[in-house]
Amino acid sequence: FKSSPFLHCGPNAETDSLAILHLKRDLLIPTVLRSHDELNEGYSEGKVSNTRFGSFPHSTLIGVPWGSQVRASIVDTGSRGRKGWEGKGKKRKRDKESQAQDDVAGVEKKQKVEVESKAAVKAATGFVHLLPPTPEIWTASLPHRTQVVYTPDYSYILHRLRVTPGTVLIEAGAGSGSFTHAAARAVYNGHQNTNTEDSTQDSIMKRWGKVWSFEFHEQRAQKLQEEIEEHGLNGIVELTYRDVCQDGFTPNDTPASELKANAIFLDLPAPWLALKNLTRASPSSPLSPTTAIHLCTFSPCIEQVQRTITTLRTQGWTEIEMVEIAAHRIEVRRERVGLAEEGLRGVNDSPASVDEAIERLREVEGRSRIFRNEGNEGEEQATAPGPAQVSKQQRLENIRHALEGRKLYKEGRLIHRAEPEIKTHTSYLVFAILPRGWSEEDEELAQGKWPAKA
Ligand code: SAM
Repeated sequence: FKSSPFLHCGPNAETDSLAILHLKRDLLIPTVLRSHDELNEGYSEGKVSNTRFGSFPHSTLIGVPWGSQVRASIVDTGSRGRKGWEGKGKKRKRDKESQAQDDVAGVEKKQKVEVESKAAVKAATGFVHLLPPTPEIWTASLPHRTQVVYTPDYSYILHRLRVTPGTVLIEAGAGSGSFTHAAARAVYNGHQNTNTEDSTQDSIMKRWGKVWSFEFHEQRAQKLQEEIEEHGLNGIVELTYRDVCQDGFTPNDTPASELKANAIFLDLPAPWLALKNLTRASPSSPLSPTTAIHLCTFSPCIEQVQRTITTLRTQGWTEIEMVEIAAHRIEVRRERVGLAEEGLRGVNDSPASVDEAIERLREVEGRSRIFRNEGNEGEEQATAPGPAQVSKQQRLENIRHALEGRKLYKEGRLIHRAEPEIKTHTSYLVFAILPRGWSEEDEELAQGKWPAKA
């Protein structure tokens, strides 16, 4: 499990590791870093992530400390890029294919190409932050195949289920794997001694914790299995393609009685149908016989909650409680700083450095030039250089001088506001506890009739 970047990411981004390109707060792109790309064989740049903020050859990402800001490379507009990237037959084919995807007839097509080339010029000034994957970031960036459980919900659920390193957790349905990743990290017991030669199922689970995951939609199960392997989580997460309501919680190749789960999370449309397979009644019960079982179901409708609770009551579950998480994001930022006096009109979002401020100015000027070239005479006149106006280079120098030494990120009044109250309801969480089983043997042990087991 040492190879899972979700558990041990190391100081630097490594080849073949999953990485997250953070473009802006709500725009994150997961990518596996490849120093080799079969589409660009023979070129040292490796795979290229093309984003709306520019192109990022993986050679500029691999080996870089996590958290670094990485500038886009000019692979679309520069001469190096043009020769390097388009000289190859396969790449040309790929470009043609993607062009074909975007293809529109006549004038419409021409306009689109023009817009794209402007976008490429702008993109060259972009950057991303290179982040290691965490369950939280994965949740924000994963390809959605279903509704997913979000961080405010799953952090509370894992806490209420008392999930700690070593916990054995049953999860159904796995869906897009958002909860699965968070659960895998929570049960992972990386601090235990791994040198033991005892590799029985029981001891592996005790050392590592385990997520026994179930999904009955074939394609979703296949895709999640691929992700689990790609993310190095196989061994911690065991995914089974199964209908848990009909066929119970027996994983592939493992008798249910070996699971000995002590936490359960059900994100199913009809959790009450699965509950009949989560009792201690049968000898093939997947539940731990010696610990209390903590359960959570996740249902969007109150009618589902009512049916679940009725079933829980009749099956001996206790401490039944329903909770709804209403998470609000509060945006904290600095008020815009007016830099017009330094000639920085339009550069007012507290740029992080002088270089960035100048970069932004160039961007604003570039946009203005494009606008003027399109024939807006009024704009042309208003901004045409007068005799007294200094050269652009001189102007940039003046700005650099004016900003030198200033901590722009600290300027402006700190303000906060709650984000608009969009629909915050995700689902109702029903929690319950099944007390530990108590056999005659346990009773005799409690009365001191037998010596305690080692
Ligand atoms: N918790 C997941 C996540 O965070 O990404 C999302 C789960 S999604 C809302 C519900 C999933 O349950 C679907 O993928 C569906 O195919 C699966 N499912 C529904 N009924 C099932 C059943 N009886 N057995 C197994 N999986 C089931």
